[in-house]
Amino acid sequence: MSTPRSMLETGFDVEKVREDFPVLKQTIHAKPLVYLDSAATAQKPFVVIDAIRKFHEVDCANIHRGVHELSQRSTAAYEETRGKAKRFLNARSRSEVIFVRGTTEGINLVASTWGRQNVSKGDEIIISALEHHSNIVPWQMLCEEKDATLRVIPMNDRGELILEEYEKLLGPRTRLVAVGHVSNALGTINPVRAIVDMAHGVGALALIDGAQAAPHMKIDVGLLDADFYTFSGHKVFGPTGIGVLYGKAKLLDAMPPYQGGGDMIRTVTFEKTTYNEVPYKFEAGTPNIAGGIGMGAALDYVTNLGLDRIAAYEHELLVYGTQLLSRIPGLRMIGTAREKAAVLSFVIDGIHPHDIGTVLDRMGIAVRTGHHCAQPVMDWFRIPATTRASLAFYNTTSELDALADGLRKVKEVFG
Ligand code: PMP
Repeated sequence: MSTPRSMLETGFDVEKVREDFPVLKQTIHAKPLVYLDSAATAQKPFVVIDAIRKFHEVDCANIHRGVHELSQRSTAAYEETRGKAKRFLNARSRSEVIFVRGTTEGINLVASTWGRQNVSKGDEIIISALEHHSNIVPWQMLCEEKDATLRVIPMNDRGELILEEYEKLLGPRTRLVAVGHVSNALGTINPVRAIVDMAHGVGALALIDGAQAAPHMKIDVGLLDADFYTFSGHKVFGPTGIGVLYGKAKLLDAMPPYQGGGDMIRTVTFEKTTYNEVPYKFEAGTPNIAGGIGMGAALDYVTNLGLDRIAAYEHELLVYGTQLLSRIPGLRMIGTAREKAAVLSFVIDGIHPHDIGTVLDRMGIAVRTGHHCAQPVMDWFRIPATTRASLAFYNTTSELDALADGLRKVKEVFG
């Protein structure tokens, strides 16, 4: 099936972009690789791979503590990423950017520091029905510790949050609302600006899990007015083990440190330690220096491509893929929100998602099957798992054709 020209109006030069991603050039089981698992981790362009390599080959030294040339260089390169992340998020200052291992650690940092300090018995924390486990479990642990209550914004059949119900959950005991910007399991884009405003309306703070938004759309923490925003480097075409937690300066200043150790201190005696200024107060120990430098290259890469262009092209892919899959008998899309990122999550009558994934793999097609770390979402739809094709700007309509053809074969095999 060929791509109707009219559908690809953005003129995004995907073939040129694909040249930047060496991993995409291989065959798997003698078929060209079709990588449709970018929501789990995105592939890395040469500029990221080269930046990490250059650090190890030329500049490798520990940061912040050395007066020698290599340490100066590695410190400068690592700290440059802080400035890039500030611009990427449109934060007001570099000190609002804390480096963490990823989204999971960003959320845990807020729960362990701000949460421990500000949540007490009888208080309430609100999350939503479509959260990833990493935006559920840290709040559950905090609520257990503090005897606080976790409340959940419900969703409708499309996988959209019901804001009228959210409004009813808000009250004088609400301390924090923590929601995902984009659902990894369903692709739903949540109306986060409205969610943040409503939280602020009752004096609560708002944390946004941006793991699935940062690779796909322009983020502006100023416009969103989010108190905390976190994302992972590896989903935004950078390396694993590095990510960003943004927090409003006033909040970060008042929060206790996360972990104790080197770099997060100003002075240490056996009697008393004084802490370093923000953001270093939250960054104990030698960080993932190479990862930070690689993430800087990744942020430059997506910024140069243009997040608005990326979003427009991926929307075309989403519309194309949704139409293709809807023609497959017995296939049901899970997650049909009106505002949706490029995630195609589905079930096929009578065929287990793991079987679908295994047969597709034999055809070189990489999809994810399972609960996608969002078991409550699966429970809500009364299914154990879905097959999920998650797209990035390096995917093509012909790869979606290959997916649809592959699914027809799956149906032949199991039909
Ligand atoms: N939130 C969402 C919505 C995610 O998709 C993911 C990763 N699948 C995470 C949080 C956790 O990210 P990480 O594993 O990189 O910390």
